[in-house]
Amino acid sequence: MNILNIDQNKLKQILVSNNFKAFSANQIFEWIYKKGILSFDEMTNLSKDLRDFLNKNFKVCSLKVKTIELSKDEQTKKYLFELEDGYFIESVLILSDTRKTICVSSQVGCPVRCSFCASGKKGFFRNLKAFEIVEQVLLIAKDINEKSTNIVFMGMGEPLLNFDEVVKAVKIMSDDKYLNISQRRITISTAGILENIKRLKDENLKVYLALSLHGATDEIRNRIIPYSKKYKLQDILKELRLYFEKTKRDILFEYILIESVNDSIEDAKKLVHLLKNFQCTINLIPYNEVENLSYKRPSGVKILKFKNYLISKGLNVVQRYTKGKDIAASCGQLAYKRRL
Ligand code: SAH
Repeated sequence: MNILNIDQNKLKQILVSNNFKAFSANQIFEWIYKKGILSFDEMTNLSKDLRDFLNKNFKVCSLKVKTIELSKDEQTKKYLFELEDGYFIESVLILSDTRKTICVSSQVGCPVRCSFCASGKKGFFRNLKAFEIVEQVLLIAKDINEKSTNIVFMGMGEPLLNFDEVVKAVKIMSDDKYLNISQRRITISTAGILENIKRLKDENLKVYLALSLHGATDEIRNRIIPYSKKYKLQDILKELRLYFEKTKRDILFEYILIESVNDSIEDAKKLVHLLKNFQCTINLIPYNEVENLSYKRPSGVKILKFKNYLISKGLNVVQRYTKGKDIAASCGQLAYKRRL
């Protein structure tokens, strides 16, 4: 059994029923989550008997680091992990002056299959378990010998279609007994799974929510995010407003700019109309081109015009500067791989 899959109380019970002391569970969790030690043999304040017991009955880590790639500017690192059943997932570490952000995957492949994205091209294979999501964070912290400051669920997969395990992972990440990363430093990005935005609100979490909007009308969204045909954009916005009212976390709208698809001033006007009166930030993401897909990134001038138009209408806009392009670690470039 993976020790990350059980909580501290459960571990206490197991220890006591095997004639070990309950407080050792605190020590074990401290080693793992506070000191980043992922091998029982290195937990030096535990008795040899206890370490043997743990080695026999538990694993601390199920992911194997296969490759680590560093971008030329050394600001981005991409990790390829192998799961126990042979699937691979990728995670990305993005460094800036003030932050160490980890972009985690929540599924192997993706069921949403946005037409512009590499992640779902080969389909959907399985959900990740909470411990597999948390391990991405633990293993990256171990690699850089430092804790991350921020987590974004923007790797492979649709986090709100793996609801229970993602919520469990967020709780482990944010609990002060565990990784102690404040929920205000965690962002879940979704293509807009209406019923689960509702459920997330009812979980009483205070994480930021980002909607992959990418188009200001149902017509455009349905064309590039076929999954979104299930919902009406207005219903999603209504639900996001409720999420904002409850959590007081500004909603982030991600808008990829794709040449001739959604990058005209007409599109910008519709976007302004859609989001006026909405307390939010728009994150403009110049499209990252994906092998075998014909979508293109608009010119710098076009991107700037679009951005300036939104700003001139009073919207709060940030542009995501592409990092890690040389190692295919940018948004939408994480792709499914399986053991050869
Ligand atoms: N399933 C979640 C997380 C996906 S990845 C979601 O849809 O939000 C995070 C962001 O990268 C999403 O906004 C996604 O639409 C965007 N993205 C996907 N492919 C991209 C590409 N080729 N270039 C730029 N952004 C991309």
